[in-house]
Amino acid sequence: MAAERRSLKIALAGNPNSGKTSIFNGLTGAHQKVANFPGVTVEKRVGFKKYRNYNITFVDLPGTYSLTAYTIDEKVARNFIINEKPDVIINVIDSGSLGRSLYLTTQLIEMGVDLVIDLNMWDEIQHSGIEIDTDKLSKLLGAPVVKTVGSRGQGIDSLLETSIAVAEHGDKSHRHPPVSYGPQLDDVITNLTHEIGRCRHCHGCGNPRWLAVKMLEGDREIEKRYVPSRETAQSLSDALDSSLEHLKATNPDDPEIIITEGRYGYVAGIIKEVMTRPPVDRMKTSEMIDHILTHKFWGYPIFLLFMYIIFEATFSLGGYPMDWIDAGVGGLQKLATAIIPAGVIADMIIDGIIGGVGAVIIFLPNIIILFLGISLLEDSGYMARAAFLMDKLMHYLGLHGKSFIPMLIGFGCSVPAIMSTRTLESRKDRILTILLIPFMSCSARLPVYILFAGAFFGASAGRIIFLIYIIGVLAAIVAARILVKTVVRGESLPFVMELPPYRRPTGKSVAIHMWERTKVYLQKMGGVILIASIILWALGYFPKRVEYSQDYTAQIEQLQVSDEADSADRVDELEAQMAAEDLEYTFIGRMGDAVAPVVAPLGFNWRMGVALATGFVAKEVVVSSMGVLYQLGDGAESNSETLINKLRSPESGISRLAAFVFMVFVLLYTPCLPSVIAVMREIGWRWMLFSIFFQTTVAWISSFIIYQAGRFIGL
Ligand code: GDP
Ligand code: MG
Repeated sequence: MAAERRSLKIALAGNPNSGKTSIFNGLTGAHQKVANFPGVTVEKRVGFKKYRNYNITFVDLPGTYSLTAYTIDEKVARNFIINEKPDVIINVIDSGSLGRSLYLTTQLIEMGVDLVIDLNMWDEIQHSGIEIDTDKLSKLLGAPVVKTVGSRGQGIDSLLETSIAVAEHGDKSHRHPPVSYGPQLDDVITNLTHEIGRCRHCHGCGNPRWLAVKMLEGDREIEKRYVPSRETAQSLSDALDSSLEHLKATNPDDPEIIITEGRYGYVAGIIKEVMTRPPVDRMKTSEMIDHILTHKFWGYPIFLLFMYIIFEATFSLGGYPMDWIDAGVGGLQKLATAIIPAGVIADMIIDGIIGGVGAVIIFLPNIIILFLGISLLEDSGYMARAAFLMDKLMHYLGLHGKSFIPMLIGFGCSVPAIMSTRTLESRKDRILTILLIPFMSCSARLPVYILFAGAFFGASAGRIIFLIYIIGVLAAIVAARILVKTVVRGESLPFVMELPPYRRPTGKSVAIHMWERTKVYLQKMGGVILIASIILWALGYFPKRVEYSQDYTAQIEQLQVSDEADSADRVDELEAQMAAEDLEYTFIGRMGDAVAPVVAPLGFNWRMGVALATGFVAKEVVVSSMGVLYQLGDGAESNSETLINKLRSPESGISRLAAFVFMVFVLLYTPCLPSVIAVMREIGWRWMLFSIFFQTTVAWISSFIIYQAGRFIGL
């Protein structure tokens, strides 16, 4: 007889960067999907596994240091545990930061969940000379302890077996010895716990001791949810009042602070019991490197040097495969011209789809190199140093040191960067950080720079691109100073920066991080960029003109049969004039007329203006639009010319100065549509409108100044 299958729900909880996602991937393999937690836009990874006679669902909770519900991530993680009641929680811990990690563990223990402790990154412990007595740790916490190396998949089987064993033995929450806060506080908690146990209206609250601690902490959300009103539970309210009074009388601090301190004390006690540090530990080497990398003077040039190397490599190394892809796109266009019968469909495929998507796809190698560089810096632990270094600068800007990480993510893409501001506790910090993120030049803008810098600045293109990024950062600094004095005022909360140890990045992890980012780029190519290219092409194709200022067709026919020496040149010229008149008549041509006067003071032609407008959808679309627009306006024969060459040629009507200003404008103007939506979801539609308006104004004014000043000094 087939055994009946049992469903298990297992959640992973842990600090950010403890390796949760690595463990999750190891447990579930490819069977996962990504959704959102109910009501919020925090990403929820869910995975499935059939194992023995179990159907197991795994959930990767957001990384948190605590469950006090101060940040959205903490709330989401806590609500999931309360509402969904997972059978087992795997608490993933970076064994190298045991102290910091156990703070969360104490809260999980208190909630009375069935727990498996996963000492991850065990490989690093082995090399460090630190010893952890895992048996003792298991006894003290009242939960099994498993050692794993998430990045290499070691210990995953044992983790799975242990989790199932814990689930099978049913509710053993009482096995956790209670978290102790020291004799004084423990007395108060125990009294209140008894009172809760006696109260007839307090059922369904999970663990009474946990509720007692929450009541003492003054956790409003939990009180609202579980604590009956004063009228229904008079004696409980009285007990709480007298407990709080007692605490106040015996300790000058806030009860919440007393409890936090108690918890740290408990953790410190456990560490003392289970961990032995070697006389010279790994932190020593780390400290030495830190001394240089976070040096208050040398740290900054070193940071800039790293960044410069990445951008130079992005441009110059990316150039080789770019030429191949470019040749491939050109070949594809020729092939399509040869095999598809001439007509609207052929035009759409050749000019619209290949012209548009092809213009963007050639930058894929550059993007991959940029992502590789960023992933290496992140995985090695250097980015945390950079954040540390920037803390002072952030304070000067009226920002929180923590804001640096969202800004850094902004160099990849603004959308996840905007979402990552949830780790900031103060709303003022969040608003300001979100408004500044778009100044960090995202990777979608890179194709625009590579195209224009490559076309107009030859050998110094890499340096010009680096300069653009620097301009973005400087603009953010100026903007921050202005914003904190005007629209976003308030205080920042203090915060202590953590420095994780340096790690040698593993090939696999770097590859995964790089791929995750590249995938998004490819998806955009097949989605929004493809659609935008087709729409733009259609707008530039219709309506068809029937009357021209002169009879081109007749004149061309005449020239073709004549045998004058320059007749071929004259034909080209006439065809170009005819194409230009065609384009003028289309929707795009009319749009161009409308935008031309707005962008003319910046030195841009109407095509650049239209391309900028379409770039609101996604910044890469600026490039695909340029591809389509320069394809459309051509005479019939010049299709095979690459976009970069077309821009470079004098007929494009773009000066070197205008090209530079164009890059600055793309850097600074309105964030793309998905970012704008993210802004709205995070801080509301008023700030969204402000962000669009603010960025575009800054872009226009800066571009105007640079262009006019450039012309003035004769550039
Ligand atoms: P999360 O933020 O908790 O989801 O952590 P990730 O799974 O994204 O891991 C953060 C980093 O730690 C990645 O670079 C992983 O490759 C790395 N990592 C994860 N587990 C281990 C491990 O056991 N040993 C080492 N050395 N690195 C690990
Ligand atoms: Mg993760």
